Formats: sequence, C-alpha cells, structure tokens
Amino acid sequence: MTTPEHTLVGIHFAFAIGCHRIFGWSAVAMAGFASNIPDWDGLPMLFDMQRFEAGHRVWGHNVLAITLSSLLLGWTQYRYNWIERVSNWMAGKLPAAKVALSTTHEANKRIGTMTFVGIAMFAQLLHLPCDMVVSGGNGLSDWAIQPFWPFSKTGYVYPMIPWGDVGPTVILMFGVICSAKWPKNLSQISSITLIALCTYLLARAWSRGMLSF
Ligand SMILES: [Zn+2]
Repeated sequence: MTTPEHTLVGIHFAFAIGCHRIFGWSAVAMAGFASNIPDWDGLPMLFDMQRFEAGHRVWGHNVLAITLSSLLLGWTQYRYNWIERVSNWMAGKLPAAKVALSTTHEANKRIGTMTFVGIAMFAQLLHLPCDMVVSGGNGLSDWAIQPFWPFSKTGYVYPMIPWGDVGPTVILMFGVICSAKWPKNLSQISSITLIALCTYLLARAWSRGMLSF
C-alpha cells in the first residue's frame, strides 16, 4: 500500500474501535502515524538503491522492529507530547487550532505509556497484511513480507491487487469525506469503510482468479 492508504487504514481502524471516544484524538493521530513506521526501511534507498534494496520491506516489516519502535513512540509521546507539539507547529498561525499542552499532558497521564505503545503496535502490525495483499503488478515482482526476521527468513505474500491500484485510495478517502460530513457517526462510517475495502480486495482477487468458491 501507499503512504496515504496506510495512514487512512490506521485512522479508520482507530475510529472503528472507538479510540477517539476512549483515549482522545491524539490516539487516532498515533494510529495514523504509526501505520507508516514499518516503511522506514525504504528510506535508505533514496541514497543508494542497489545497496539498500535488500532491506526494504524487511528491516522495518517485522515483529521485532515493530515492538521496539512502538515502545519508543509510546514512551516519547507520554514524555514529550510530540503529537500535540507537531500539531501546534502545523497549525501555524491559527490560534483557534492550537492544542493546550497542559490539558493533553493530563490526558497522556490518564492514557498511559502502554496504551500509546499498544496503539502504535497494533497500527504497525496492521501494516504487514496490507502490504501482503497489495503487491506486485505493473512489472513489479511480488514482495514477500518476513514478519519474523531476523529469526526466520520465511516470507509471506498474497497479492490480491497490484501495488498502485487506485481502488483502496478511493474507498478510504470516501470514508474520510463521509466522516467529515457526519462526525457523530465516525465509528460506523469507518467500520463500513473497512468492510468495503475488504470486500473490494476479495472481489478483485476473485476476478483475477485467485479465489474460488
Ligand atoms: Zn510497507
């Protein structure tokens, strides 16, 4: 999946299970951000394609890296409120959009480090099946995920749709637009959006002859 798609999957999952009601908006932001963290292993390719190609979808796409990075994300959020600080920075000169750090720090205390760690971990683990089912196509080879690297190099991939397929983006963005229009029904809209996404994946896999009933 692409970066926007991973972000939206994380956000929709957080809304669907009610993170915004239980833990507040920073928990949803954590889910959206953490959804993309496994892709850090693609960054070195910007500098040396040949040398780092072997590491992409390996170094960051495994349970060990996900656990360590989730602990780091959760602890730093609890300690430094970086979600609120970045939000304030992005809000720029819009005073009304600024977040009261004192208030959110109290909220962080209530939520606790391990809750943030759990949300970050769940969002990152969700990244792995997303990459497994959206893979290959358009001249690209299927890219197996090795979730237990470095202990096991067994790879898993189940390409239901090719990488770059616009379908998931359309479905996930439509869900966001509906959420903005009917904010009181966030959980229901996000649940329907995720069901629609899964249905689309299954239908496309079936149409390509990958499923038989
Ligand atoms: Zn990935």
